[in-house]
Amino acid sequence: MGSAFSKPPPTVKPRNDDRIKGAREHIEPIVAALESLNEKIQGQVVLAPKLGADETSSTADEIYHEHRERPFYLNDANYPSAIVLVKTHEDVCEAVKFVASLDTAKYKLCIAGGCHSAYCMVDHSIVVDMKNLNECVVDTDALCMTIGGGAKIEDAHAALKGTGYGFATGTNGDTGISGLTMAGGAGYLGGTAGYGCDTVTAAKVVLPSGELVTATDDNEHADLLRALRGGGGNFGVVVEWTFKIYDVSNVLGGTVVQMCPTMNSIKRVFTHYAECLEDIPDECYSICALPAGAPVFANVLTMIGPDTPKEVAEVPFFQRICKLDGAWFKISNDLGRKDYIEEVTVMLEPLQKRTFGVALGAMVYSFDEAMRDALIHFARVDYPKKNKRGSAILVLGLTGEMRRNDGSKSSLRHRKAQAWVVVNGEWDPWASEEDIQAVKDWTKRIKAKIVELGGEDGPHNFCDTDGRRIKFFTDEQRSFLEGAKKKYDPNNLMTLNKNIISHAE
Ligand SMILES: Cc1cc2nc3c(=O)[nH]c(=O)nc-3n(C[C@H](O)[C@H](O)[C@H](O)COP(=O)(O)OP(=O)(O)OC[C@H]3O[C@@H](n4cnc5c(N)ncnc54)[C@H](O)[C@@H]3O)c2cc1C
Repeated sequence: MGSAFSKPPPTVKPRNDDRIKGAREHIEPIVAALESLNEKIQGQVVLAPKLGADETSSTADEIYHEHRERPFYLNDANYPSAIVLVKTHEDVCEAVKFVASLDTAKYKLCIAGGCHSAYCMVDHSIVVDMKNLNECVVDTDALCMTIGGGAKIEDAHAALKGTGYGFATGTNGDTGISGLTMAGGAGYLGGTAGYGCDTVTAAKVVLPSGELVTATDDNEHADLLRALRGGGGNFGVVVEWTFKIYDVSNVLGGTVVQMCPTMNSIKRVFTHYAECLEDIPDECYSICALPAGAPVFANVLTMIGPDTPKEVAEVPFFQRICKLDGAWFKISNDLGRKDYIEEVTVMLEPLQKRTFGVALGAMVYSFDEAMRDALIHFARVDYPKKNKRGSAILVLGLTGEMRRNDGSKSSLRHRKAQAWVVVNGEWDPWASEEDIQAVKDWTKRIKAKIVELGGEDGPHNFCDTDGRRIKFFTDEQRSFLEGAKKKYDPNNLMTLNKNIISHAE
């Protein structure tokens, strides 16, 4: 944290002419067909620019780069061959049918939602960019809201502002709701509501055939809805979700940052924290951060729900966790009454800024001494020493309804995990290849150690290796998802996101 914030903000790398050329050459044989698609849709098809034809960039070239450069991690701004900026559900149907009609071994369909994963702007692919399908409509009578398939969390929160309601989702407003929900969706309301995917009641989906269907728990596409709840972008393009909404008018929360300069102090603080996590009340949520190489321990805490007391002093969990036994002193503590939308949902922003980096996730079932010591070791001893920017280990508590839900209507393996550990490995824009590799290796070492100590790979959309081979799913879930894949995407059109294939390997 700390010093990283005072450094100049990173920008996307200079454009690479060879990669632009490669993207354009790839699409050249089907340019006429893409132009016809452009005529058919209300949105716009943007092609990788032709270099050399004109000394100056055209407006279309800039639109291409503006969208290509959307990924949260700037190094994921790759070079797709075409970007289809869809505006309507019908546009999505047309775009999907178009790609399905091509040689799909050569022209891959890629879906860009909130662009928080590395699979949204894949080289040489044809991207369906969902950004403009971001309308969110709140119905406080029916206690639900519809959310466009391209909406980010912040779009939904903008619609919820002032209503006194929130929805179960992630903690970073810039994240796409679709990608996040299809990976589970862990966040502040998890203890009472469950994962985001558990609170979805319907999804409108454009299938790989181009057909638009609505999936609910009670109709003929109930299997599709179950598959979307944790099975990733494997089955079609979601153009609209219906989510339940929850009362968030009564909230206490804030960030407590503690100085822990010695190994002894951080060990004691983290041990106490882990004990507190074991019996966290449903209404409470906690995310802690162990920044790489910084002598502090940061803890984001919330209590949300009608029964939340007026004062922090009346919440035993806060009192207990804030004791953080062994700490030297508190640098800051802004726990107090908060507006959920305007203050709580932005609390993690300083810890997660757009930059160059990678994120790895792993599930932890128990913070026993070996696990605690390992995480502290990677935060304080074995971390990249140069150009590591805001690299940090985050621990997101998984609580209450997230763990209690019997999982029969979803495809999430990790229901019983105690926490999701996210390793944010970041580097400065000027970092050498060697320094970048050191950061990447650090994230991998942490994940390997967590797995060695009894943890597991993280959720599906958050993977760094071939998703088909690592254990995201139980045998029952895998067999269910393979069946759903066979039914809804028999030709494996939705293939880029390290996906499930439609037949057993
Ligand atoms: C800084 C940061 C913070 C995060 N915080 C949280 C958190 O608090 N809680 C949590 O649960 N997760 C969190 N995540 C993980 C996040 O949920 C995943 O990275 C998720 O895949 C991001 O979705 P996206 O739409 O933004 O990304 P994208 O890269 O746009 O999409 C991810 C995948 O989903 C598919 N997809 C996206 N939209 C659609 C659609 N409409 N239809 C079909 N497929 C689609 C794409 O094919 C793509 O492969 C975080 C990630 C980052 C980088």
